Amino acid sequence: MSEFVVGLTGGIGSGKSSVASLFADLGIDVIDADVVAREVVAKGSDALAKITAHFGSEVLTPEGELDRKALREIVFSQSEAKQWLNNLLHPRIREGMVEQAKAATSPYCIIEIPLLVENKLQHLVDKILVVDCQEKQQLTRTQSRDQAHEAQIKNIMKSQCSRQERLRYADDIIDNSGDFDALKANVQQLHQGYLLQSHDKSSK
Ligand code: ADP
Repeated sequence: MSEFVVGLTGGIGSGKSSVASLFADLGIDVIDADVVAREVVAKGSDALAKITAHFGSEVLTPEGELDRKALREIVFSQSEAKQWLNNLLHPRIREGMVEQAKAATSPYCIIEIPLLVENKLQHLVDKILVVDCQEKQQLTRTQSRDQAHEAQIKNIMKSQCSRQERLRYADDIIDNSGDFDALKANVQQLHQGYLLQSHDKSSK
């Protein structure tokens, strides 16, 4: 069981997934909040049954899975519906992340949580690691990754907290304005520090 949990966060395109996979390469268990969020509404889950009872079967695909696009369209313009959904899903996602962190077997583990600050999840983790780069880099990197429209990415960036706000919560910061080699070196250095801190915590 990993007793030391690092929360990895950052804005869209800042490099969270890249950082997470570098830690995974070093043998560290990585839990992805987005994956947990999909697991809690998997076919057969009680959350999916509740969502269907609330919104009707139009939020299901013909295969009985959650139709995310249909659900997104319903909650998009209805703040009450969004609130209802968040109240249902957020506790389950939190529980799922904590459970998986407890089951981790590496000396420490990482939970990648894009909206850690926005959803006030600081208390779930021992340390907060923020990946940061300039907004312009976030935009161009996301554009080349997703082939998405500039306006669409800018809207997502606007819905997230500002770099300054996020950095206020950081225990550690990875400046990802350089190349992949610099990123890798940064991760290796942090890894050494986290190994020491996890050892200190477990020997207390
Ligand atoms: P996030 O998970 O925060 O949205 P990603 O890790 O997916 O961000 O990075 C966004 C895109 O930018 C990916 O295509 C990734 O390969 C690329 N990228 C990440 N870091 C760098 C870097 N230092 N130099 C160049 N490209 C990068």
